[in-house]
This record gives sequence, structure tokens and C-alpha cells, in this order.
Amino acid sequence: MIISELFGVRGYSVIVTGGASGIGLGYVEALASGGARVTMFDLREDRITEETTRLRSSGLEVSGKVVDVTDHAALERAVDEVAAEHGRLDVVFANAGIDPGPGFLGAWVGGERPRFADGALEKYTDERWNRTIDVNLNGVFATLRAAARHMRPRHSGRIIVTTSLASERCEPAIGTAYMVAKAGVAHLVRNVALELATYNITVNAISPGMFVTNIGGGHLKDPAVQSEFARMIPMHRLGLPPDMYGLALFLASPASAYVTGQQIAIDGGFGLGSAD
Ligand code: NAD
Repeated sequence: MIISELFGVRGYSVIVTGGASGIGLGYVEALASGGARVTMFDLREDRITEETTRLRSSGLEVSGKVVDVTDHAALERAVDEVAAEHGRLDVVFANAGIDPGPGFLGAWVGGERPRFADGALEKYTDERWNRTIDVNLNGVFATLRAAARHMRPRHSGRIIVTTSLASERCEPAIGTAYMVAKAGVAHLVRNVALELATYNITVNAISPGMFVTNIGGGHLKDPAVQSEFARMIPMHRLGLPPDMYGLALFLASPASAYVTGQQIAIDGGFGLGSAD
């Protein structure tokens, strides 16, 4: 292996679920800029059109499909279509996720963190619980299964799952089902990695801290919320989708060939605690 080619993904066939916004769009940009053929799966046709048009105008090989990861049959068909179109499937990012807040505490503002009556356990509806588990846990399971069906026969593949710091520690501003789904997904990654290792398929997780995206109605775009979180994050800023480029390329490329079953935090040190 030539060292300068360690991070090469040219010609790879790549799928990113939830790829039309935020962190997923960061993965799309990183892989497509490296010469991969990337297909974003997303619920939002308007965002798919906008982002594929923008990226194609820069000469990148990006396309999109409207896919709901909770519709497992449609997801399977879409994965099959991409694999047939490109003759292979090299990398799948299982990234689509939602955060239908609120949690039982609000974000810090002015040194205060109010309790939210509407985020209390007694008010947590079955619909909210089921929808969150359906997208953030069951949707990842279905994505991994669809990927394995193509990768196992070829004895090759990379699966990368977006988990969260919430998989390991409680974040009271986010709802209960989100914690549970992300913790479940983190362990799913380890179990599937163990099963697929002998087939030369790696399965790893990226665990973001606070990233400015459209999740939860884009609440982290609020400058007041951002400055409160920035105070607590050791690097004193929130993450932006381009912060994902390096880690996405590492886990998708030959550079990480011997890494599997790992969850890598990317959080400006937030998971370590407060430094000042
Ligand atoms: P985002 O809302 O900007 O992007 C998520 C994308 O997923 C959207 O385009 C949305 O349309 C799509 N999506 C939602 N439900 C879907 C479904 N059922 N099928 C297909 N697509 C669907 O949010 P983001 O912050 O970029 O979130 C991406 C992932 O990162 C999620 O799994 C989220 O839990 C995780 N995450 C985000 C943060 C953060 O601070 N932003 C922190 C930790 C983990």
C-alpha cells in the first residue's frame, strides 16, 4: 500500500442515509470529494434536489433517492438499485436520525437550565417513543442488514453508523427514547462487527458531540444556545459538518482496514467533562 493512497476512496460506491442535511451531508461531501460515487437516501426530496444540484455543479458524482429508513422493504430496494447501478457497494453510512424534543431539562441559558413539564416521562407519548426507536434504532438495523446482503458475498465493505455521545451518557435536553436508541445502536455496531469481521467487513461508529445541523428543528443554530454549549465544550465551539470529513474518510478508506467494532467520539472534548 502506498501511504499517500491510504485515504483513497476513488470509484467507491457509497450510500449515506439522512445524507441531504447536516452530518450526513458532511459524509457525502467528504466521500464525493475523494472521487466516490455517492447516493444520499433521505426523506426530504427538496433537500436532495438542492444538495445534489450544488455538488454536481462542482463536478462531484452525487445522486439521491427519496427513502424512509423505517420502510424496510423500500430501503432494501433502494440499496439493491444502487448496488446494481454501480456494480458494487463499498461503503454504507447508517446516519439518518431524529430528535423529537424536548427532554426534561432545557439548554443552559444565562446559567439556568429550566425543567420542561412537557418533556417529563409522564407526558412521553407512545407515538414519540415508537417513532424515535423506529428511525434511530430499527432504521439502522435495517440499513446494516441491507448492506450486509451485498457486502458479505464480496468479502469486502465498510459500514459506519452515526451514534451520539448520548449512547454513553444522559443528556436531559434530549428525549428518553433517543438515549435508548443510540445506546442500542452502539452495541448493535459491536455485535455486527464481530459477526462480519471474518468477511473483511468493518463496522464502526462515529459518536458526535454537539453539531450545528437541522436536527430538532435546528435548535443548535440559535446563537444563545450555541454560546452556552460552547462555554462547556473544552474546545469552546460546536462542531460543523466539515469537522466530519477526516473521520468519515478514515473509516471508509484503506487507512482503517484493521479497525472494527469501535465508536469514535468527535466532540471537541465534550465527553471528557468541563475544563474551565
Ligand atoms: P439533520 O436533521 O441535519 O439531518 C438528518 C437527515 O436525516 C435529514 O435530512 C432528515 O430528512 C433525514 N431523515 C430523518 N428521518 C429519516 C428517515 N426516516 N429516513 C431517511 N432520512 C431521514 O440532523 P443531523 O444532526 O445531521 O443528524 C444526523 C445523525 O447525527 C443522526 O443520527 C443524529 O442522531 C446524529 N447526531 C447528531 C448530533 C448533533 O448535535 N447534530 C449529535 C449526535 C448525534
